[in-house]
Parts: sequence; structure tokens; C-alpha cells
Amino acid sequence: MKSPERVESKPALVVIGNGMAGMRTVEELHKLDPDMYDITVFGAEPHGNYNRILLSPVLAGEKTMDDIMLNTREWYVQHGITLHAGDPVEHIDRRNRIVRARSGLEVRYDRLLIATGSKPFIIPVPGHQLPGVLAFRDIQDVESMLEAARNHKHAVVIGGGLLGLEAANGLQRQGMSVTVVHVTDALMNQQLDKPAAQLLQKALEDKGLKFRLNAQTAEIVGTDRATAVRFKDGSEIPADLVVMTAGVRPNIELAKAAGLHCDRAIIVDDTLQTYDPRIYAVGECVQHRSATFGLVAPIWDQARVCGAHLAGAGVRRYVQQTSPTRLKVTGVDLYSVGDFVGGEGSEDLVLRDARRGVYKRLVLKNNRVTGAVLYGDVKDGPWYFGLIQNNTDITSIRQTLLFGEALSARAA
Ligand SMILES: Cc1cc2nc3c(=O)[nH]c(=O)nc-3n(C[C@H](O)[C@H](O)[C@H](O)COP(=O)(O)OP(=O)(O)OC[C@H]3O[C@@H](n4cnc5c(N)ncnc54)[C@H](O)[C@@H]3O)c2cc1C
Repeated sequence: MKSPERVESKPALVVIGNGMAGMRTVEELHKLDPDMYDITVFGAEPHGNYNRILLSPVLAGEKTMDDIMLNTREWYVQHGITLHAGDPVEHIDRRNRIVRARSGLEVRYDRLLIATGSKPFIIPVPGHQLPGVLAFRDIQDVESMLEAARNHKHAVVIGGGLLGLEAANGLQRQGMSVTVVHVTDALMNQQLDKPAAQLLQKALEDKGLKFRLNAQTAEIVGTDRATAVRFKDGSEIPADLVVMTAGVRPNIELAKAAGLHCDRAIIVDDTLQTYDPRIYAVGECVQHRSATFGLVAPIWDQARVCGAHLAGAGVRRYVQQTSPTRLKVTGVDLYSVGDFVGGEGSEDLVLRDARRGVYKRLVLKNNRVTGAVLYGDVKDGPWYFGLIQNNTDITSIRQTLLFGEALSARAA
């Protein structure tokens, strides 16, 4: 909480985006110096800051909206932060250092933090604007899906990646009949190799989900509302609800319009500063050394670095690290990290135990682990991740490596 001293004319920090990256950065700044700025936060969503990752368990009925709140409105009051929730910023005037929100409210800044996240990519097929066609990004989407599940039967999820499978699982748990449509021949093809993807598909089929792989959506059929999805081969499946989980695009229109240097996202340096030294950016809206981001682990690192620079303790530099992926579907254990494809100069260690439903593949290069895909038994995932991060030479534990940390510790 703010202390009473140092109240006279502090510099103003304005944050655009009341999501995970923006507020984590404010928290990191507060740890270092809670009194440095007068902070104003603008959020497009009419809520406090919540844990977006946990929208999946909310959809599945395993958590409530209250459970996933990170910073309630009271939190902002207690920390002396002014929150304008439900009032998106529409313009940044860099010359006069003012932001203007949709309500017409204007606030002057000394430092500006842009944390506008991503926008879901809606495949622009005919019918994509029909009621019943949704994305899976925010509380509003989850409320709309829950409402659809109460009143309708057939759901189609377009996109068989992490988000699509979590949406499909949630909708099925809400009683809908769900088909997942995916363009390639394997689920989660960004994170899993074929054998792991097949095990995953089988486990999800056993739970009642249906799949259409190698399928290209041609049209969402319907007049007043979606009623079916039609594919390029002419076939159709019924759909009262269509959830598009076909990727996201960094939300950068505001930054672009303000003349900030952008490519696929807002370009930042190792301190998360944009080309305008008064403006920082963090999260899914940034591009750092050609990379963009879609998981929270790198975003927490960015927040730590950016918070330190905003606090004037600017010795830190953001360094990209690989981040593991886990699927949040109860009863399905999978873990994927690093380069799971391999290639020239790399080798594979593979363990398959079909009866136990266990599959493990480690990719090695120069006696170092560079990637891991684990299905069914994931307890050693963090250990493999550590070996990757530390670039550990595994020569002495190679024989036991696949059997995990406990056995390898004995062998070493
Ligand atoms: C359902 C779901 C499950 C996920 N599961 C995982 C997971 O298991 N593991 C993982 O690592 N990641 C997961 N993610 C991804 C993770 O949630 C994101 O990487 C993270 O939220 C990105 O943080 P961000 O602050 O950049 O964007 P966001 O959290 O999206 O925050 C951006 C905020 O800015 C607001 N905004 C946009 N424009 C404006 C404007 N002009 N004015 C004011 N406000 C604006 C938006 O409304 C939004 O509230 C998941 C995402 C979803 C949707």
C-alpha cells in the first residue's frame, strides 16, 4: 500500500491493458518502489485483473470466476491505483503525452506501458459473424459459451491446439456434444510429435470428444444463428456453437496508429522499451528479437525486467527462455518443452509403454537435452526442463535419463 510521504507531484504512469502482463509489471514495480508513480490503468474489459489461463477450468465447471481473480477492484483502491475498467484507450498522443479513452477521458503520462495482449484470429469464412460463433479469450466468451451450453446441444471447436482442446473439454463437461476440427492430421502439432498426439486423441475420444482431422472449414451455415459447419469437401456437421481457436494476433492497432515501430507486434529492446523511450510494452503485444509470445512464463520474466526499469533500477535485461506447455484437461497428463522435432545432428531417446499409456521422447544434441515430449507420466518434466535450461551434459546419466530424475541421480 502507498505510504503517506512523497505525495507531491509524482510522475504519472499510465497502463493500457488490465491483463496478466500489464498488472504483473505493476506488481513488480510496486515491489521495488510502491510510491514512485501515480498509476492509472485502463482496461477494455469491465473487470479487475484475472488469471486468463484459468478460464479453461471455469468453462469446465472446476473453478468459479471469483476463484480466478488476481487483482480485485478493492486491490486497486488499496494500492492507490486508479482503474478505468471497461473503458479502452482509443488514442495515444505521443507529442503531448496524453492517452484518450473511449469515454473521452484524457490522462497525461510521463511513462506509458502498453500491455494490450492479443486478439483471437477469427477465420473469415462465410458465416463467421453469425451469432453462435465465438472466440475463447475472455470472461465474456466463457459466459457466452456457458449460456450456449445451457440452451444448445452441438458444439464445434475449430482448431485442435491447446486452447481448442481445453475449450472442447470444457464444453463437453457442460453437457454438449463436441467435435474438434483441425487442419492437419495431428492434434497440438505445435507441441507434440505424432505418437504423443495419437495417444492424446485416443484419451480424449475415450472421454467422448469427436475429431475431424485434415478438415478445412468452408462456411458456417445458418441464418439467424450458426446451425452447422460445412467443409471444403461439401460435408457438414451440426453446430449451434462454433468456437474458433485458430490462433491469435498481437493487438497493436493502437501502437501502430501512434507511430510506434511495429512489425508483427510492437518492437521492444531488452529492457522492454519501445522506440519511444517514454513508452514500454510487455506481453503478447510485443516482439522481442523476432519472437512473439503466447505463454505466461516469458511474460513474467518481461514483467520483472520492465518493472525494474520503470522503477529506475534498470540493470536487468530480458533474455528469452524456452517454456514448457501443459494441457489443462483433468485426467490427461502431457508436457512438452523445447525442440521436439529434432533434425540433423540430433538424436532421439524414446520410451513407449502402451499398456500404461506412457510415452516419452527426449531430443538430444551434443549430449544435451534440447526437447522433451512426455505423455502419461509427466513428473520428470520440470527436471528435463532444468537440464535444457542449464545445458547440462547428460553423458554420465544417458542410460537412465528416460527413467527420470530419481534413477538418474543414483546412476550419476
Ligand atoms: C483460455 C486460455 C487458456 C490459456 N492457458 C494458458 C496456459 O495454460 N499456460 C500459459 O502459459 N498461457 C496460457 N494462456 C495464454 C495466457 O493467458 C496469455 O499468454 C496471457 O494472458 C497474455 O497476457 P497479456 O497481458 O499480454 O494479454 P491479456 O491477458 O489478454 O491482457 C490484455 C488486456 O488488455 C486489454 N486491452 C486490449 N486493448 C486495450 C485498450 N485499447 N485499452 C485498454 N485495454 C485494452 C484486453 O481487453 C485484455 O484485458 C491461455 C489463454 C487463454 C485465453
